[in-house]
Amino acid sequence: MSRLDCIVIGGGQFGLHTARMLQQADLNYLLLERDSIGDVWRNRLEGMKLFTSRQFCALPGLAFPGDPEGFPTTVEIADYLVSYAGHFDLQVREGCEVVGLDRLSNGSFQVDLADGTSLLATSIVNATGANQIPQVPAISSQLAGEVQQLDGSLASTDVISDGHTVAVIGDGATGRQIVDRLAGRCNVFLATGSPRGLPPNRLFGRDIFWWLDRLRILSADKNSLIAKILKKRNPVPCGEYNNRRLKAKGVKIVGRALECSGRQIRFDSVGWHDIDTVIWATGYCDRTSWLKLPHCVDERGFIENYGRTPEPGLFLVGRKWLSCRASELVMGVEKDVERVMVPLRAFLSERKEIP
Ligand SMILES: Cc1cc2nc3c(=O)[nH]c(=O)nc-3n(C[C@H](O)[C@H](O)[C@H](O)COP(=O)(O)OP(=O)(O)OC[C@H]3O[C@@H](n4cnc5c(N)ncnc54)[C@H](O)[C@@H]3O)c2cc1C
Repeated sequence: MSRLDCIVIGGGQFGLHTARMLQQADLNYLLLERDSIGDVWRNRLEGMKLFTSRQFCALPGLAFPGDPEGFPTTVEIADYLVSYAGHFDLQVREGCEVVGLDRLSNGSFQVDLADGTSLLATSIVNATGANQIPQVPAISSQLAGEVQQLDGSLASTDVISDGHTVAVIGDGATGRQIVDRLAGRCNVFLATGSPRGLPPNRLFGRDIFWWLDRLRILSADKNSLIAKILKKRNPVPCGEYNNRRLKAKGVKIVGRALECSGRQIRFDSVGWHDIDTVIWATGYCDRTSWLKLPHCVDERGFIENYGRTPEPGLFLVGRKWLSCRASELVMGVEKDVERVMVPLRAFLSERKEIP
């Protein structure tokens, strides 16, 4: 079996840009994608819009089509990623799920695929994304079986009946857009966690991300004071989904969901309420079951330090706070991939010197 210089696992924006960097470095690489490029975005809530405008959704080297000040739908970004792979003629194999990754005694990585075949590579960049398995809090098990329970990976709100009393737990981008869809036809509670900053999408005539970028707030190191403040406040630009507009649509914004019992949830500020449907929009965690290198994983997911894992030659991109706030955004792709390419190239050149 021939051995590749590098296998990239996952064809989201981080994986695709990594592939492009490997191509530019003239390395022998292959990107493996479980589904089709862009499916992750296509499968998100129907009609969902990104909270970053088009000017901040482009990868290096290919402009994002459309009004740069407008907000793209998830289908637009999916189409853009497909066009990115085609434009640069990247080596991508779709429908190719990695089900095992191990290191052989000769130093190669063995990548096992769902079709029963294996590939060998000198190095690996894992770009499988941090938003893989919806995280549902343990209190969900206190709810009665007749309560409809859904999570943030919901593709359409049509599965929720008119007139239902719905609790959306989690006030991030997903939670707020779900609430907006249900307002008017359902009785909706939005449970927030810790108070968070809700900056507008535009400030003094400019996109908020323009300011955050210019002021180097998004790229501030993850261990800096700025990062500490951002982690505490966890701001999310929510534009038209802000508290004032949601309240005007009849949404009841309440505190944290503290406990459940039968058909009821107790919210921090307002006590117990009867609920027909609960949507847990409470974040995601890593899927790591396929990694046969236990020292690279802990209970929170992959172990890494600025994209380096404890296993030499195995790198990670596309993680929240990998280096800075932008690390989980399209805006953070270039910097984080570049950061990982430096030790990756050094690792490969060392390995090539060994006969
Ligand atoms: C609801 C939501 C809204 C967001 N909105 C924005 C926004 O407005 N602006 C912004 O900049 N960012 C946004 N983000 C954040 C960020 O852009 C995404 O999380 C982004 O998808 C991360 O890119 P990625 O390449 O790391 O991972 P992903 O896009 O998740 O790509 C990972 C890829 O790996 C593949 N894969 C997974 N496991 C395997 C396997 N075992 N074998 C092979 N392939 C595998 C998947 O199929 C997928 O294609 C949002 C995230 C979420 C969840």
